[in-house]
Amino acid sequence: MVGIFFTNMVKYFRKTGVSIMKRREFIINSAIAVGGTALLAGCGKKEIIKHDGEISKRRFRDLEIPLLGFGCMRLPMQGEEVDTQEVDRMVDYCMQHGANYFDTAYMYVDGRSESVMGKSLKRYKREDFILADKSPIYKMKTKADIRKIFDEQLKKCQVKYFDFYMAHNINKNTYDTYKQTEMHKELLELKKEGKIKYVGFSFHGSPDILKEVVAEGNWDFCQLQVNYLDWDVVKGKEQYEIAQSAGIPVTVMEPLRGGGLVNLSDKALAELKNNYPNTTPAEFGLRWAASLGNVVTVLSGMSNLEQVKENIKTFENYKDMDENEKLVANKIAKIIQSQGEINCTACKYCMEVCPRGINIPAIFSLYNQYKVSGVAMMFKIYYESLAEEEQGHNCIKCNLCNKNCPQNLDIPSLLAKVEEEYQKIKNLERK
Ligand code: SF4
Ligand code: SF4
Repeated sequence: MVGIFFTNMVKYFRKTGVSIMKRREFIINSAIAVGGTALLAGCGKKEIIKHDGEISKRRFRDLEIPLLGFGCMRLPMQGEEVDTQEVDRMVDYCMQHGANYFDTAYMYVDGRSESVMGKSLKRYKREDFILADKSPIYKMKTKADIRKIFDEQLKKCQVKYFDFYMAHNINKNTYDTYKQTEMHKELLELKKEGKIKYVGFSFHGSPDILKEVVAEGNWDFCQLQVNYLDWDVVKGKEQYEIAQSAGIPVTVMEPLRGGGLVNLSDKALAELKNNYPNTTPAEFGLRWAASLGNVVTVLSGMSNLEQVKENIKTFENYKDMDENEKLVANKIAKIIQSQGEINCTACKYCMEVCPRGINIPAIFSLYNQYKVSGVAMMFKIYYESLAEEEQGHNCIKCNLCNKNCPQNLDIPSLLAKVEEEYQKIKNLERK
């Protein structure tokens, strides 16, 4: 039926002389709409499931998925090593409370996340946990690399299949490689072979590219950056709606924006506390994302047992946000935006390619804190406490970092801006 629809549409284009560009756009939008109509029946507001002693869940196909997922990109460290004992404690606490969804990736924790999580989860029966992993597009030279790295990932995670598996980080810079290597086709092949249960993609690009990816069809889910600040800042709303109208359920990454929505400025925190004195910023941010009806799970990159406990508590007594809470979230977002933050989520992808080893996320974080607090001296002290080679003045403007930044930041320009501010503060001190 869909085939007949497209054949008729192409005939219509020929008759009316619509331009090739317009045809392409129309076909993509129509594919989304057709796919959406077919799938939306099963994609309304997903009902909350609650079992005694467990956190709230939502149904996804044959699974019940916990609303809180464990993002394994900020694992606890002891010096240079991952603190595997703390990881085990965190995993155990999650498993005891029904939070059995774990999301890892090839590059997380400098390539160590998969092995550490594999070892920890090996203590449980395979069918008792849900494991998500991702194909690192940036590593692929040929189609054969996809399977080679996939096999390596299965080995590192000590499993025979992944429940959820994604093309990792589709954006304007990775999109060509993603297409050239026919990654979508290859992932569907692995699904046919029973090595992947559900195929998806994680996304950091523009809505236009998202529409093209969605139009390929056969997606079980997608992973989007959704939080109340990015809803407008990086077009989170538009992206969420594209997925929703195509009937593709969403797993949420960066619901707290790499900690940025936990450490609120005094003004933003006052807005929250004046309205909801007993609510923590973390709880508020996680519930905001989970309240979206097409969301299956909200991933939190937790780094210690305390964070796990706090987040589990949020989802033990979970209820969707009401209209007033959403209004307050909107006001907090406006306050943060007015305080001139750099939209860095501290993912560190830029650092993987920087030939000068500049600590870009740390510099942006210091700058943001300074803008929020207004305390110039603290900014200067902390900035100078970075190793000399990590500071922004070493930037040679090669632009390699920009290609890796999922937030599309113009990193060299921002580094120059921060450096200029630092020099100003330094000169003032001399006078
Ligand atoms: S532009 Fe600067 S910060 Fe970016 S990769 Fe090059 S040297 Fe590093
Ligand atoms: S600048 Fe971009 S790539 Fe680097 S840590 Fe921040 S968000 Fe990630």
